Amino acid sequence: MAQLSNDCFAFGGPLLAVDAAHQIIRDRVACVVAREKVRLDEADGRVLAAPVIAPIDLPPFDNSAVDGYAVRFRDLRSGEATVLPVHRRIAAGDSALEVGAGEAVRIFTGAPMPAGLDTVFMQEDVSVGPDGVALPAGLKAGANRRLAGEDLARGQEALPAGRRLAPQEIALLAALGISEVDVWQPLSVALFSTGNELVGPGASLRPGAIYDSNRLLLRPLLMRLGCRVDDLGILPDRHEAVSRALAEASARYDLILTSGGVSTGEEDHVKAAVEARGSLTFWRMAIKPGRPVALGIVGGTPFIGLPGNPVAVFVTFTQVARALIARLQGEEFREPLPLPVVAAFPYRKKEGRREFVRVRLVRESDGRLTAHKHPREGAGVITSLTETDGLVVLDEPTTRIEPGAVVGFLPYEMIS
Ligand code: AMP
Ligand code: MG
Repeated sequence: MAQLSNDCFAFGGPLLAVDAAHQIIRDRVACVVAREKVRLDEADGRVLAAPVIAPIDLPPFDNSAVDGYAVRFRDLRSGEATVLPVHRRIAAGDSALEVGAGEAVRIFTGAPMPAGLDTVFMQEDVSVGPDGVALPAGLKAGANRRLAGEDLARGQEALPAGRRLAPQEIALLAALGISEVDVWQPLSVALFSTGNELVGPGASLRPGAIYDSNRLLLRPLLMRLGCRVDDLGILPDRHEAVSRALAEASARYDLILTSGGVSTGEEDHVKAAVEARGSLTFWRMAIKPGRPVALGIVGGTPFIGLPGNPVAVFVTFTQVARALIARLQGEEFREPLPLPVVAAFPYRKKEGRREFVRVRLVRESDGRLTAHKHPREGAGVITSLTETDGLVVLDEPTTRIEPGAVVGFLPYEMIS
């Protein structure tokens, strides 16, 4: 019974650690979208549905990496310069040449290596005279030559299934001659805010009302992950209305995402509505900001309920919903690795909870990057997000840090 006095169990259920939530997501959530083919020039940001095997060698043939002179290494004198006659030239796009012994070929970057030649001198390193080109001693056999297949050999895996295509991946596929790829279809997401106090931007602000910022925060976060988002507006704090809206959305979408209404207050109806129409896997996490985060199923459709406060929404979206969406979309997902920076602030925290501190980075005169905590810590302070560069992550075992400690930093660009 000792556990009941533990804060972790104070409200009738344990707080789930972030890593445990990720483990549940990995174990229990699978890809729910179908495949489709897209043209390579429309594939940016899409997720590969199958591995891509290189259909050709890359590069397709041996070629020169520089502008210069191609030779047969065996024709060079050892330890002294060699002069070889030059009768022919070959440029990028020309077809390969046959060359006799004892001859150098003027060659340009990207030109096929003439058959039998194996080494290329850079033009900056040689001198050209009446008898040919003078080649200094000391170059290694095979220098400045790119071998067929050295980047990727035909038959090797170029990219794994689950890879989200960035311009670099698209360039690789293009270099392999691939013009179309199998990708997963976009995840369709139903997005709601909850709360009687909310009105949409553009409406007039009646007494007691605030503008709904979470839908406008979450929509672009989802779209950056390639989701198709339907903004379904604001749900009132009424059990029946919430319950009906979730049930209707479950029939039409791959994922339901809400914010607000998942705490323990009597005006928080989301948790009860999910339990009435489906089941909850967890609903409280050991994370700050953002303790109430609900994951469950409504009518067979995955549901994730984020907290209400906008900073908590941002943190829990990037730290929990991101991993869920990756699984549902068939994406291979690696948690971003926090970068080391030096804390410029002291901090105290509870053991057993992962905390995210909003910080601004400063480059000190000695070159180190220091992280400065935003003066306002409240989970509702939206300027604490716009006036900072990212989050310092303090793991569960940590209870205090002092200025000068090296801490892990996640730039906003890396997580959103
Ligand atoms: P709740 O979890 O519903 O009690 O919400 C916690 C706090 O977040 C309250 O102060 C709400 O007014 C606020 N909040 C909830 N939803 C939103 C939203 N969509 N936009 C801005 N603030 C919100
Ligand atoms: Mg509310």
